[in-house]
Amino acid sequence: MQETVLAVDLGGTKILVGEVTKDGEIIASKKYPSDTSNQRAATEKIKSAIADYLEEHPSTRQITGVGVCVVGRVDTEKGEWLEIYPGLSERLFLAQEIETAFGFPCSITNDVSSAAIAENQLGIGRKTDHFIYINIGTGIAARVVSQGKIISGGHFNAGEVGHMVVDITSQEECPCGRKGCVELFASGLGMHKQALNAHWRYPETILDIRKERRIGFDELMEAYEKKDGLARYVVDLALKSAAALTMNLVRVSDPEAIVFGGGVMSNSWFLEKMVTFLNPKTIRFVTKGVTITTLDPQTIALKGAALLAANQMNRRDSCG
Ligand SMILES: [Zn+2]
Repeated sequence: MQETVLAVDLGGTKILVGEVTKDGEIIASKKYPSDTSNQRAATEKIKSAIADYLEEHPSTRQITGVGVCVVGRVDTEKGEWLEIYPGLSERLFLAQEIETAFGFPCSITNDVSSAAIAENQLGIGRKTDHFIYINIGTGIAARVVSQGKIISGGHFNAGEVGHMVVDITSQEECPCGRKGCVELFASGLGMHKQALNAHWRYPETILDIRKERRIGFDELMEAYEKKDGLARYVVDLALKSAAALTMNLVRVSDPEAIVFGGGVMSNSWFLEKMVTFLNPKTIRFVTKGVTITTLDPQTIALKGAALLAANQMNRRDSCG
């Protein structure tokens, strides 16, 4: 009987549950509604999703463990979910709760860390032990992998690089308390807000600007290609800000490769333009490329959660 791991990816709108082989191949998966209003509500949704999946998929295979990735700060060693959003914290031993409920060993991590684990074992990590994974979607976060290991920091908060300031003269306030953070300019949500703010300067824009309506990145790309002034302003600001962030991270961690994921990076359009703003001298040691992940962005975190669980089970086995 083939051994598998049940992986769970908690997102803002959906929970993805999938059965994954120990090599990271997804055999089956199903989506469930999510609730990320607080950790307890999210935990209940995760548990009911796992219960439903197990009931619907009577085992033709042998599930040996569960791997879960969530948003916020996670202590993987203790299996403790420390915080869902900055300031909204309820210490919760999620791994143990799932172990008790379902009888499988469980490992948990943050969703961006999970993507970096997948990248490390199945993607660019096969070519180098030194890389940065940068996720640009609704928000921005990254993970630095150095000597083959993800840097997690003293409070499991390393890599929240969306709050790196890229414009010290900016008057734009960020929820983090500073001004000029890269997330305000280069994330999907940031670009939407920049378009709203600058609309008055480009009244002739072809973008459909209404306060209550989120401007999609696809619309920005299309308007940019049609030389729309507002789209050009917003996207060029995003490109330069993302390039500044990338180069700052290179200066911090000296990677051999940089890999991007997330909605804004779901095709090569943004990256191809952004690399033109990278200073060749700054990135001269990034010899193994500045690329988009070769893994499916929809399932990269799910795969990482499965690999984490498999890794931790192996480690426990070898410790006797
Ligand atoms: Zn900030």
